[in-house]
Amino acid sequence: MPGGSTTAKPLDRALHHAAKADLKTRETTDAPMPELPEVETTLRGLKPAMVGQTLNGAVVRERRLRWPVPRNLNALVRGQRVQGLSRRGKYLLVELQRGTLLLHLGMSGSFRIVASGQAARTHDHVDLLVGSATCVRFNDPRRFGSIHYLRGDPFQHPLLAKLGPEPLSAEFNGTYLWRIARNRRVAIKSFLMNSQIVVGVGNIYANEALFLAGIHPARSAGRIALPRMTRLVESVAKVLGQAIAKGGTTLRDFTAGDGQPGYFQQALQVYGRQDQPCNHCGTSVRLKQQGQRATYYCPSCQR
Ligand SMILES: [Zn+2]
Repeated sequence: MPGGSTTAKPLDRALHHAAKADLKTRETTDAPMPELPEVETTLRGLKPAMVGQTLNGAVVRERRLRWPVPRNLNALVRGQRVQGLSRRGKYLLVELQRGTLLLHLGMSGSFRIVASGQAARTHDHVDLLVGSATCVRFNDPRRFGSIHYLRGDPFQHPLLAKLGPEPLSAEFNGTYLWRIARNRRVAIKSFLMNSQIVVGVGNIYANEALFLAGIHPARSAGRIALPRMTRLVESVAKVLGQAIAKGGTTLRDFTAGDGQPGYFQQALQVYGRQDQPCNHCGTSVRLKQQGQRATYYCPSCQR
């Protein structure tokens, strides 16, 4: 496997694990979970504390995350300078001198920055020791997050290699979405949430973007004309952009080191508003299970 420290077998096992996780999500019907805006906020929070610093090592209290944390993580990272921090989809990449740490928040993961030596709390599974005074601490009650150490080009890793474009990039535009939707009968909402089509559009944002664009969530992707696809792309950028802007305001809590970075309470138009009047036309917002995810829409505004 190129550049990876995992093998095909654990990947299969992980997919099984992921399917089980998905089932759990369904049971709890969309419990808040880190989405692209939370990951972007985490990135912005960690950057100033990590970039340019040297890692003094790592402390692993619990290896059993979605994939096992490398046994020798401490030795792997110790002495390496952090060259940069970036995001691809919902993955965070810590670029080191000889490799890359690939981090994922899973369903309940979060990082906080604490003074080194501060006592760990429940579910504080891994610490990255940054310089001599700081510790970047990973907490994850449900343990579906992950930490990989990759050698070589991280973008060749199976977890990243097949990802679609970033939703806020120029590559994700109306023409792109319209072109790949040709002859696809899948519902536009499922299409939008497929990370091979575009990364990081979770359930909340898919619901909200479709409302903004006036598109019915169950409409076949292949039956949406180019101008409406363009509107949909703009709507995705708008809802994600607003959430990221909102996330910026939680950064102070994040770096304070106590409490979670939080899930962004933004003004939602349809999500979670079943039977309440549509903000645009007053019709009751409907809730339907679609692909076993909660779908909210206005039957009058969305066609
Ligand atoms: Zn309406």
